[in-house]
Amino acid sequence: MLVRSALHQAGACALTELLRFPAPEQRTIPCGCGHQARYRELRSKTILTVLGEVVAARPYYLCPHCQQGQFPADAQLDMVDTSFSPDVRRMQALVGQQAPFDQGREQLRLLAGLQVTAKSVERVAEAIGADIARQEQHEMDRAVQLHLPIVIGEPVPILYIQMDGTGVPVVKKETVGRKGKIDGLPAHTREAKLGCVFTQTKWEDAGFAIRDPDSTNYTGAIENAEQFGKRLYLEAWNRGWSRAQKKVVLGDGAEWIWNLAQQHFPAAIQIVDLFHARQHLWNLARLLHPQHAKRRNAWIGLHQKRWLDKGKIAKLVAALRSIHTADADLAKKIRNEADYFANNATRMNYPQLRKQHLFVGSGVIEAGCKSVIGQRLKQSGMFWTINGANSILALRCSHLNGRFENYWESRRVA
Ligand SMILES: [Zn+2]
Repeated sequence: MLVRSALHQAGACALTELLRFPAPEQRTIPCGCGHQARYRELRSKTILTVLGEVVAARPYYLCPHCQQGQFPADAQLDMVDTSFSPDVRRMQALVGQQAPFDQGREQLRLLAGLQVTAKSVERVAEAIGADIARQEQHEMDRAVQLHLPIVIGEPVPILYIQMDGTGVPVVKKETVGRKGKIDGLPAHTREAKLGCVFTQTKWEDAGFAIRDPDSTNYTGAIENAEQFGKRLYLEAWNRGWSRAQKKVVLGDGAEWIWNLAQQHFPAAIQIVDLFHARQHLWNLARLLHPQHAKRRNAWIGLHQKRWLDKGKIAKLVAALRSIHTADADLAKKIRNEADYFANNATRMNYPQLRKQHLFVGSGVIEAGCKSVIGQRLKQSGMFWTINGANSILALRCSHLNGRFENYWESRRVA
């Protein structure tokens, strides 16, 4: 480490020499106001690079008309309004999407020998994430206005789309006027929507579906269903939606999911996650037999679970509708559950779906909610602004989807 840090210091000296710009021959450059800015002097600023601190002395131009100053060299070096080199910012963004900002600060010190503050990791990671999110938004807007270019490639046998929502704890100002889950208490979370796209080519000998390795992409944000629909559509499109032989949308019973599926993915097979459907049965069993675990099990075991697993939803609904109770509140809850199964009946034909070797569970997106959002955004003591959470989420998805390096490459090219 001693040798490395000595070489870093030597490198920083060399870099400082390289970053001492000669006085420019070009004495004036255009200013945004329409007049000409004039060269004044070389001005120095300290920059933290992967070699440590260096000093850059670069030409400064001032417009006598509007008093606006500019450093054209900063734009060329991708160092506008920052004291971190692009590669140090890339490191800060990488550790910032991975773990709490203070852990990122520590990693940079231990691994790269760089002294930065947790706050600067936060600022830089969020700024880069916001830039990625802006680019995605731009692509989404374009996708709505124009027909998307066809992505050429092999046909995709089965393409899946799954989506789900999970609460992200936010600072007070982000929930003003919103109702909480518990009556009378303010909400302290906002729902982040997460979607994933993956493919399937094979199944096990026993017939169960196998997800293609490394085929899963994630995308998500705290936003309304309409915005999220565009986001997920773009992701699906880029993954070959138009050349998928079989298309599947899988989710729990939430209404927004099916509205969105109808609007953006009308050709897809719709499947309600089997385990959520079973959960509905268990909730109902608990209502019917609040005190007796044995009776609950018996009720579920009698016919209900078998009907569900066999996709005999009409029978299940009829059985639910035939339950009579004097308790008006309970009767209403039973009606709601019967409606849930009736409304989703066509999405619950599990034997037929299994015959096609399709997934019937939304486990991938549920695991995604935990790993993509939960592990980074829902740690104890964390409270996010919506912009902050969305920036980190964009960064995290970009990294997980293997696009983080592409982003920096495109910055270099620009
Ligand atoms: Zn000017």
